[in-house]
Amino acid sequence: MTGAPRTAGAAPLHGIGVGGGTASGPVARMAPPPALPAPRTVADAELPAEVAAARAALAAVADDLARRAAAADGEAADVLTALGMMAADPALADSAEAQVREGQDAPHALAEAFAGFAATLRAAGGYFAERVADLEDLRDRAVAHALGLPMPGLPDPGHPYVLVAADLAPADTALLDPARVRALVTEEGGPTSHTAILAKILGLPAVVACPGAASLTDGTPVLVDGGAGTVLADPSAERVAAAAAEEERRRRAAARVGGPGRTADGHPVRLMVNLGAPHELSAAAAADSEGVGLFRTEFLYLDRTTAPDAEEQSAAYRQVFEAFAGRRVVVRTLDAGADKPLPFATAADEPNPALGVRGLRTAVRDPGLLDTQLAAVAEAAHGTTADVWVMAPMVSVPAEALAFAEQAREHGLRTVGAMVEVPAAALRAGRLAEVCDFLSIGTNDLAQYAFAADRMLGSLAGLLDPWQPALLELVRQTAEAGAAQGRPVGVCGEAAADPLLALVLVGLGVTSLSAAPGCLADVRASLASRTLEECRELARLALAALDAASARTRVAEASAGTA
Ligand code: PEP
Ligand code: MG
Repeated sequence: MTGAPRTAGAAPLHGIGVGGGTASGPVARMAPPPALPAPRTVADAELPAEVAAARAALAAVADDLARRAAAADGEAADVLTALGMMAADPALADSAEAQVREGQDAPHALAEAFAGFAATLRAAGGYFAERVADLEDLRDRAVAHALGLPMPGLPDPGHPYVLVAADLAPADTALLDPARVRALVTEEGGPTSHTAILAKILGLPAVVACPGAASLTDGTPVLVDGGAGTVLADPSAERVAAAAAEEERRRRAAARVGGPGRTADGHPVRLMVNLGAPHELSAAAAADSEGVGLFRTEFLYLDRTTAPDAEEQSAAYRQVFEAFAGRRVVVRTLDAGADKPLPFATAADEPNPALGVRGLRTAVRDPGLLDTQLAAVAEAAHGTTADVWVMAPMVSVPAEALAFAEQAREHGLRTVGAMVEVPAAALRAGRLAEVCDFLSIGTNDLAQYAFAADRMLGSLAGLLDPWQPALLELVRQTAEAGAAQGRPVGVCGEAAADPLLALVLVGLGVTSLSAAPGCLADVRASLASRTLEECRELARLALAALDAASARTRVAEASAGTA
């Protein structure tokens, strides 16, 4: 990392806050990746040794990851095992050997081999492109080994620290010990990056897509605010003490309240969890929630080249319904495309996948896919005590919602909804609500489409800020239209995870909130501290604000005033 060191009293750095809460501590930065020296000419006589060095580097990385996987458990072990297998892929070693035989030295041959694999993933786009970071991490480790340098990875300053990095790779994030790492700050990454996801799972405050993070030097004390998305270098002792007191208050408040969500005056707000990959199931089921508000079924099949049949799908869904017996599970049908391409459902040649055939639109091109899924959901729901609801992603017009509702009901699924993720759907939410039983607002995509800002780009995070008054206006219209038809309207995008914004959403008329399991306790405590009328007043303030920052500030100030 480069950049001029920051001086005391400087303004805070701003990025995307993730995970909520605050934490302070000295900065420790990730060991930088090795720099490749100038290429060395490899004489014919040296070829066997150079090939052996390249292969040995890959084997060492694979062994190291396997050893670390054996020492870890749960998700960390899975991630490390998967990475170790990637490093052990014989195709990678063969490719590196081929590069050496063309005259490259081992470090350059390794870099070339990884570059070839990364290009393939990048071309596949979306989820696969995000995996390029995994390959780059493996490359750095292998190249470091071939150069005789220590492998890059997590720092170990011998005391708790705030981890600062360009971005985090899964091999690092999987090993993070929340007892040592107090907070995460990354220059790159976005709201859906590994860092962001991990921070929420571990309950660590994090700020991602934070320009200027590179200027933070080792040992600099920082105060990280995952709610506001700020990183303050050299904070005063008073600031740190105030943040720690606030953090303690937050923890106590969260621990005090449990059970169904409600405001201080008893207005019910259903609190549910978002569920994606299967390994999240046990933590999600263990969380104090009223069910699953968003079951992202496409996460089960991201690496599949052929569509799962009804039997395979219903077995997967049944596991979830059983884990949530007696509770609600809102199954979202496959949201294939854009940032989550499914090889068996997504065209690879669309010039602009976010505006292409994704979500429910996939069903027009391949009606059998949706029909099989609905049959599988109905089959899995049969005989469980879970209250199974089903909803479609990326609905744009009422006719799509109607067709979906009719198709789902033909399969015996009784409670059918539409996601509101496209501004057109929000503007005509009343018409959607006429043909559906409920609406669920996906604020991540609704922001992307309302602001014409790619949600994968950290550099556009300001536009994607869920406090944007224009986004809140679309939420208001949707909630009011739903209420007029007597339909529940939930929010299942990342906005629902913010305890302060949750008050505003409820004030706008939202009836349920669904978020990562680790975020629910804070949201519940926040709701319990305000009456519905206070939430409405906060919503009015947010809507009247000029921009996202002032909406947040005004609501924070007013909320502090009524606490
Ligand atoms: C959303 O868009 O807000 C949403 C919940 O769906 P996803 O993030 O899976 O696209
Ligand atoms: Mg979405």
